[in-house]
Amino acid sequence: MLERNQRTNRLLSLLSDDDYERLRPHLLQVVLDYRKSLYEASRPIEHVYFPVEGVASLVITTADGASAEIGTIGSEGMVGLPVCLGDSVAPSSVYVQVPGTALSIDARTFRGELGRSPALHLIMLRYAHAFFNQVAQSAACIHLHKVEQRCCRWLLMTRDRMPADDFLLTHEFLGMMLGVRRTTVTEVMGSLQKAGLIRYRRGHVTILDHEALRRRACECYDISRLEFDRLLGDTAGAPRTDKKRRLISEVGHAAEVTNRSPAVSVSRR
Ligand SMILES: [Zn+2]
Repeated sequence: MLERNQRTNRLLSLLSDDDYERLRPHLLQVVLDYRKSLYEASRPIEHVYFPVEGVASLVITTADGASAEIGTIGSEGMVGLPVCLGDSVAPSSVYVQVPGTALSIDARTFRGELGRSPALHLIMLRYAHAFFNQVAQSAACIHLHKVEQRCCRWLLMTRDRMPADDFLLTHEFLGMMLGVRRTTVTEVMGSLQKAGLIRYRRGHVTILDHEALRRRACECYDISRLEFDRLLGDTAGAPRTDKKRRLISEVGHAAEVTNRSPAVSVSRR
């Protein structure tokens, strides 16, 4: 069974001790191998995943077999949001793009726990909101910002979800994230390498100058990050802090209010 304090996923780190202790016996550590399928479009979602390291892609595939990535999920989130939103299937598929590890739980068990704990449910709804905002920001980003700016944004987002500055990132994945051809990926990564910001060899990226990447990234990187912090606190993976306590008590209070009167809207003050 999972160690008591092994909460290295952002959402799990926000749970109250009671909620976490109820989930803990059901959480399994799994390896996220490159290309592993986490769920398939229009098929029942069997498991929910809380990534610890690595990145999973939410992908839409059209009738002619073409695919586009619409969102990414790492240690800040969970794979299986439809389960939290009252559904068990989705029109999209999710598979692993950057290898790592995750904590997994049976979807039916997790649904039962959501029904048992309004506080757990509210944390997942806040994540759903943050995730939707990230997808919306990315939709605007792809139309409004230059490829190099967007590439810097995605490199920083991937780095935030990994334990070190060196990670696997294929040309194919970068091309899908950026919505460009492989030759464009080669050009952009080549220019970032030439400027001394990264090293890129055989699908492995090493971030050499984090600050310079931030200066070249578009505003979307900070907007999405701050939105996650606003909705979920800024204590990802950290031990209990005042901010985390505040979020738990706030979510707990909101849940109490929701229980007493479903008509009362939950707002953050
Ligand atoms: Zn952007």
